[in-house]
Amino acid sequence: MASSLPSTDPMSPESMMNIRYWLICCANRLFEHGHCPEIMPVPTELPTRVVYVGTDDGLDPPRLQPGNGEIAGYVSLSYCWGGSQTHQTERNRIEEYMHAVPVVRLPKSLQDAIFLTRALGIKYIWIDSLCIIQDCDEDKDREMTKMANIYKNAIFTISAARAKSCNDGFLGVQDRRVELIHDSIKLPMNCLNGAIGSVLLYSYRAQFPRNDTPIDKRAWTYQERILSRRVVTFFNDAIGWSCTSCDMADDGLEVEELGATDSAFLNLHVPIFGRMSHVSQRLSICSRYGSTKISPMFWERAVQEYTLGSLSDLDDRLPAIAGIASEFHNTTGDVYVAGLWKSHLIQDLQWTVFKQLGEPSNNTGNKDIKYDAPTWTWASIHECMIMGFREEYDLHSDRVEIIDCKVDLVSPSAPFGSVSGGELKIRAPLRFLSHRQIKEMALCYGVGKYIGAVSFDWIFWPYTVALTSLRGRVAPDIESTGVWCLGLSKHADLNYESSGLILAKRADGLFERIGVFQIYVGDDWLECGTADLDELRSSWGDDYIVTDVTIV
Ligand SMILES: [Zn+2]
Repeated sequence: MASSLPSTDPMSPESMMNIRYWLICCANRLFEHGHCPEIMPVPTELPTRVVYVGTDDGLDPPRLQPGNGEIAGYVSLSYCWGGSQTHQTERNRIEEYMHAVPVVRLPKSLQDAIFLTRALGIKYIWIDSLCIIQDCDEDKDREMTKMANIYKNAIFTISAARAKSCNDGFLGVQDRRVELIHDSIKLPMNCLNGAIGSVLLYSYRAQFPRNDTPIDKRAWTYQERILSRRVVTFFNDAIGWSCTSCDMADDGLEVEELGATDSAFLNLHVPIFGRMSHVSQRLSICSRYGSTKISPMFWERAVQEYTLGSLSDLDDRLPAIAGIASEFHNTTGDVYVAGLWKSHLIQDLQWTVFKQLGEPSNNTGNKDIKYDAPTWTWASIHECMIMGFREEYDLHSDRVEIIDCKVDLVSPSAPFGSVSGGELKIRAPLRFLSHRQIKEMALCYGVGKYIGAVSFDWIFWPYTVALTSLRGRVAPDIESTGVWCLGLSKHADLNYESSGLILAKRADGLFERIGVFQIYVGDDWLECGTADLDELRSSWGDDYIVTDVTIV
C-alpha cells in the first residue's frame, strides 16, 4: 500500500532510494542479508582502468583513469553490445579519454550507467568498451584473464537487462510497468492515519523468474552476472536485486532467500528455478568444505547455462566463459583444457549437443571461425546448447587411461582463452561399427527393442544439421568408413564399458569425435527394451580391443 502510484521511472527518487536501501542492507548484513560479505567499500585494488564518473555540475568531467593500485569501490556494467561501438577506447584515443570521455557521444546504456553510478555517490565504473583497449589484442587478453576479479570485486554490477543493444539505454520509463499499472484494479483502502489510500491489484507476472530478457540471450553476460557478488537489474517492469542471500524486485513480487553457509548448501548448486548465480560464493563454500566432488556437475551446469547464450563472434566461445574457468581453477587447482578439466576429463569428454539455438532454418552457417578447437571439446560446436554427462554412467573404467591431453593456446597470456588445436591421446576399449549398425542404433527410438542410443553431434531430433555449420570443418564420410566406439565409462550394473565417444577415423590415422553413445542398462534397459542382460552382452559387449587413439 502506498500513497501514490508505483514509479515507472527508474531514476525517480523512490527507485534510487530503493537501490540505496538494498545496498546498505546488504553491506551491513541487515535483515535477509545475513550471509552477504562485508564489502562496502570493496577492500581491493581498482582494475587496470576505470571510468571516473565526474561531478553533477559538469566542472569535473567523466574520464578514463588508470587504477594505479588505488583501493576504492567501483561498479561494473553488464549489457548487450548489439553491434559495434563507435566511441570506444582505442590506442589513438586513450590520451583524449584520460582527459575527458565524450559522454554525450557514448551509446545510451553507457551514458545511463555513468549517470546512475554518479547518482548513487560512487566514483568509478568499469565498462568493457572503455576500460579495455579495443584495438589491442594484448590488452584484451590481459584484461580477459582479470574478468573474474573485475566483476567479483565490484560493489555491484548494473545489468542493463531490458536493452537489446547499447543504444537502447535502460533508465527510460518502464513501459511494461506502465501497462501493468494501467491494467490494474484500484481498490480504496483506509490508511492507519485515517486517510483514504488505495491498493492496486496487478495481474501476476507470467514470467517467473525473469530470465527471458535480451541480456539472457547473450553468452558474454552470463559470466558477468554469475561472477558478480551483487547485481542490480533493470527490467522493463521492475528493478531487481540479487546478492548472495536473496533475489528480489521493487514490485515486491519476487523474494527468494538463497543464503546458506553450511554443507547443505553444496546440494543447491542446481537451482530449481532460474539459473546458477554468484559462482564465487558457491565455489568458496565448496572449497571451505573441501569438496572437489561437486565440481564436475557444477561445471557442467555452468557450460549448459552459458551455451544457451549466443555470441556475435564465434571465436569468443572459450573467452566468454574464461572468467568462470579461472574461478574454478583458483578454487580447485585443476588443469583446464579448452573447456574441460583434467581431473574429470573422462566424464567431461562425454558432453552432448542438446539443441541448436534457434531453428536450423535461421542458422547462418559458419561465421568465419578463426580458431578451430579440437573435436573432443564442446567448444568446437557453435551456437548449440551443450548438456553434461549422465550421472549414472559415472563409473570409470579401469581399462581407460589418458596418456596426454594438450591444447595450442592462441595466446599464452590467456590460459583460459581460445585454442587453435589440440590432441588427446587416450588408451581405451575400441570397437568398430558399420554405418548400417550405427544408423540402426541412432534411429531406433520408439521402434521396439534397442540396446542403446547414439547421439551424433549434428542430429537433434527430429532434424539433422550439417556438421560444417556447427563446427568449422567438414564432417567425415562415415557412410563409407563406418565409425569407432571408444568405451569410457561403466554403468554400475554392467561390467564393461557402457558409454563413450563415437569417433570417425581420418585417412591420416587420427580420430575425430562425432558423437556419444550409451548402452541401456539397469532401469534404463527395462524401460526401453525387452532383451535380457545376456542378450545385451552378446549383441554389444565383448569385442572391444584396448587401443591407443589420438583424437584431434
Ligand atoms: Zn545481500
